[in-house]
Amino acid sequence: MEKKPIAVLHPDYYTKFSCIGPACEDHCCKGWSIYIDKSTYKKYKRISDPELAKVMNKGVQTLKGRNEQNFAKFVLNADMVCPFYDEDKLCMIQKKLGETMLCTTCQQYPRLNRMTRMGQVELSMYATCPEMVRVALLPKEPMTFSISEFQADGSEFYLKGTYADLTNPSYFGETGKHAWEIREACIDILQCRTLPVRDRIFVVGMLLNRITELEAEKEFDKMPSVAAAYVAKTLDGDFADIMKPFAENPDRQAGMQSILLNHIMLTGALRSRQFPLYTQFIEKITGWMTAEQLEESNYSQMYGHISTLIQQYWPPFLAKWEHVLENYFVNLLFSLQGLFKHPALTPYQHFITLAEQYSMMRMLLCVLAEEKGEVDEALLTGIITTQANEAMHSDTAKRIIDNYAANGNDTLAQMAFLLQ
Ligand code: SF4
Repeated sequence: MEKKPIAVLHPDYYTKFSCIGPACEDHCCKGWSIYIDKSTYKKYKRISDPELAKVMNKGVQTLKGRNEQNFAKFVLNADMVCPFYDEDKLCMIQKKLGETMLCTTCQQYPRLNRMTRMGQVELSMYATCPEMVRVALLPKEPMTFSISEFQADGSEFYLKGTYADLTNPSYFGETGKHAWEIREACIDILQCRTLPVRDRIFVVGMLLNRITELEAEKEFDKMPSVAAAYVAKTLDGDFADIMKPFAENPDRQAGMQSILLNHIMLTGALRSRQFPLYTQFIEKITGWMTAEQLEESNYSQMYGHISTLIQQYWPPFLAKWEHVLENYFVNLLFSLQGLFKHPALTPYQHFITLAEQYSMMRMLLCVLAEEKGEVDEALLTGIITTQANEAMHSDTAKRIIDNYAANGNDTLAQMAFLLQ
C-alpha cells in the first residue's frame, strides 16, 4: 500500500530510543500477561517452522472473553517468562520470522499510541523500560516535544490498538474537550524549575481540584482560562511558599504514609516476582518492627525510622536527580497515564495518584539507599520502572484513594502532608 504522510506529536526522546535487547538488565516479558491480537493469532496458527510450532502449541492459549485486540495470550513458563524467550535473551519469533510477526503488544512495547484532536497521532513511552528511563528521563534538560511527519501505509504498529480520542465525550466526558489545554498547563507547571518538584505537583493538584469543581458546576468553557491563570501564577512566583503551612507535622505525615506502606507490603507480598525491589524494601523495614507491630500491620510507628532516612538521603538525591522526577511526571501527564487514565477517577483524584507515586518513590529510594549510602543511577532506574509498572498494571490507585476518602484524608491539605 502507498505510504502517506501523517502528523505525529511525540516527545523528542521518542526517536532516540531503541531496544537494547540482550544487553538489557530487564526484559519486557517477565511476569506479565501478554495478549495477542486476533490477526497475529491466525498467523501463528499457520507457522510451519517445527521448533516454533512446537512452542506455539503449548505456549499460546485463547482467552475466554476474547475480542479482536485481546484474543489469546502467551502462557508464561515456571519462571514467569514468555515461552519464546530464548537462552540468548532474544525473542524466538522475532529472531526467526522478523518483527512483523510479533503481536501488536510486543511490537509496540514500551511505546504508547493515542489519537487526539484533529486526527493527530500521539506517541510516547511507558517508563517501565530501563532503557527508556536512561534515554528519556535521566537527561538534565526539560522534556521537549515535536510534531513530525511520519510516512505510513496503515500497517504500522503505532496505528494499531486502542485510541483515546480526546475530543470524543464518550472517553473523557465534556472535560475531555479541554484535555489539551489542561494537560499543557499541567506540563508547564511541572517544568517550572523555580519551585521544588514536590510543590509543582501540589500546584497541579490545586489546578485539577479547580477543574473538578468546574466539572461539577458544568462550567466546562471556563477550564482553559483557569488552567492558563494557574500557569501564569506559577511563573510569577505566586506559589513560592505554598507548602510552608504544611511543614513539620510528623503525626499527620506518618498517618498518610502508613496507607502507602500498607499498600507496598501487600503488593510486595503478592507479586514479589514482578516487584523484587518491593521485596527488598519489605525485608528492610520488617527488620525494624516488633512482632506485635507486624501482627497489627502498624506501620505508622515505624515511619519515624523511614523519616530519618528521608532526611538523610532525599536532599542529596534531589540535588542530583530532581529533574528525573520532573521528567517522569511530565511523561506521565503527556501520555495521559497520569491525567485521564482511569475513567472512574476525577481530575483531582488523578492528582492524588501523582502524590501517591511521588511519596512511594521517596520512601523506596531512601530506604534502599542505605545500603550503598546514596541513590545511584541503577537504583533510581529500578525504582522508576518498578513504580511505573505498578501504576500501569494495578488498580490499587483507586483503592488507596477510597481508603483516604473513607477517613476524610483526600483533601488538598492532607495531600500536602503526604507530599511533605
Ligand atoms: S525492557 Fe526495554 S530495553 Fe529491555 S528488552 Fe524490553 S524494550 Fe528492550
